[in-house]
Amino acid sequence: MINILFAAATERWDQYQGPLKKELDLKGIDYKLAKKLPASEVDYIIYAPNSSIKDFSVFTNLKAVLNLWAGVEDVVKNKTLKVPLARMVDKGLTQGMKEWVLGHVMRHHLGIDLHIFGQDGQWRDWSTPLLASERTITILGLGALGAECANTLAKIGFKVRGWSLTKKSIDNVACYHGFDGLEKSLFGSEIVVLLLPSTTDTENIINQKTISFLSKNAIIINPGRGTLIDEKALLKSLDDGKIAHATLDVFRQEPLPADHLFWRHAKITVTPHIASETKPSTASQVIATNIDRFEKGKPLLYQVNLDAGY
Ligand code: NDP
Repeated sequence: MINILFAAATERWDQYQGPLKKELDLKGIDYKLAKKLPASEVDYIIYAPNSSIKDFSVFTNLKAVLNLWAGVEDVVKNKTLKVPLARMVDKGLTQGMKEWVLGHVMRHHLGIDLHIFGQDGQWRDWSTPLLASERTITILGLGALGAECANTLAKIGFKVRGWSLTKKSIDNVACYHGFDGLEKSLFGSEIVVLLLPSTTDTENIINQKTISFLSKNAIIINPGRGTLIDEKALLKSLDDGKIAHATLDVFRQEPLPADHLFWRHAKITVTPHIASETKPSTASQVIATNIDRFEKGKPLLYQVNLDAGY
């Protein structure tokens, strides 16, 4: 019998306990799943970084932590974590991110705002949109989410570039990697989508210098993390017209304070960290698979490199 502790907000337990039990049963795992268990008896923790558990050292027989979120920046910093950590890669989460990115890209690509906010009697027949094949989009981060978004945008016909740490190959996407590839991936790009994790290496990756590589009137779409953007540089570039608009889903401080300038900036759209979330039915399959693998001596899927921070 293995003991699995579910450590997340109370409403999550209501959403997850049914799907988790179903998937664990399907794997034939002999388990006890609960919100409270004696610390020394816990084998696995299904973990949301906003749970009250901050000290993993009390779980003396812990085998692994299975994160419910794709982002692990708050967990990797926890020095009490001494066991393998898996981040969440979930097809429901990925599908949600593809849809969110596609929607916000299309808003800017088609110039939809001009008409939504332009119901004033002016016949703007000069505003026929470009074709996707005439538009260059760069995705920073080609992981579980970035690669799928790049693929989706490429299938529609956009000229898609992507950037990652290590070399990648994705059909119809010009892939760049490493520090040297960053400028090439951004040069002349009209829309940039940020799907990098928050690490010391990615902090302020969008700054005055990297913004200068972009096309004039470029669009920045950030569903990644707030730390990816140097806010002062962004505001300056919006004010001087280098950047036409920024759509931001994630922030250094969340919830974004009600008096934050971003809320009232005419060239910024704020969405409240809703780009996509882990879906209980599909995420439970991933968690059950990972527990089953680990019990059989196989490595976890989507194991985080604690040193790299993602
Ligand atoms: P992955 O870990 O699968 O992918 C991360 C990508 O970033 C990889 O391609 C990686 O390169 C690249 N990368 C990391 N560090 C660097 C670096 N220093 N230089 C260049 N490339 C780098 O993450 P996911 O795709 O699953 O998720 C991405 C992020 O999206 C999450 O970390 C989270 O912050 C955010 N997110 C936001 C949500 C929202 O609702 N707003 C929902 C879910 C996630 P390589 O492939 O070479 O390792």
